[in-house]
Amino acid sequence: MFADPLIDRLGGGGSASVTDTADRRSAPARRRWSLEHIGTSVEGRPIEMHTNVDPAMRASVLAISTVHGDERGVGPIGEELTTVTVPPGVSAYVVPIANPDGWARGTRNNARDVDLNRNFPWWWSHRDGGPGRASEPETQALMALVARLRPVVTVWIHQPYEYVSAVDPRAERWARAWADAAGLPLLPAITQHGGGETWTYHGLGLASILVEGTTREASIGETSAHRRGFEALLAAL
Ligand SMILES: [Zn+2]
Repeated sequence: MFADPLIDRLGGGGSASVTDTADRRSAPARRRWSLEHIGTSVEGRPIEMHTNVDPAMRASVLAISTVHGDERGVGPIGEELTTVTVPPGVSAYVVPIANPDGWARGTRNNARDVDLNRNFPWWWSHRDGGPGRASEPETQALMALVARLRPVVTVWIHQPYEYVSAVDPRAERWARAWADAAGLPLLPAITQHGGGETWTYHGLGLASILVEGTTREASIGETSAHRRGFEALLAAL
């Protein structure tokens, strides 16, 4: 229901619509987003990443949303992020649906009833982290992705606690850009046992931001706010 129009749109193109010759000379063509398969869920659903790569890249950002399938606004937010124009010199990567089984079921957890944002190996707990550290294929796919791309900053998008936090203090400037543009407060660095955003920084040593939207529902206002947040972060890189 969510994926079909997304794939239709990507399949239909969506790159530069510049037709005027003078404009084409003065402005570089808008770079295309393309689709990459990065893993498979417990129930066999693909985990997809949208990529927008500048070969002359000097900075990169990875945004990951829908780790929790019951946060119904984050899927549309992730989808929206794949439509922005990425500035020259920046490569952007977006995983709109990191937990496709949970998204399909409308559940927080994956198909084995594991909370993926407690399943990452840093500060993992047997109480609520699943059967073992990084036991789930979705967690493994996301870990392999972050380790392969090594983005300048990784943004993990959740709902509904209404804040932005730079898990890594080095990321505070980018977190503030997103928070200001989206109209959210910037909170001090958080840590979450078994969390993806926490593992990115404390486990891998890479800059990480946690974004918490304002509701568990999808709304145009919510989606637009985080589009502005992403654009502000891209401009600040
Ligand atoms: Zn969440």
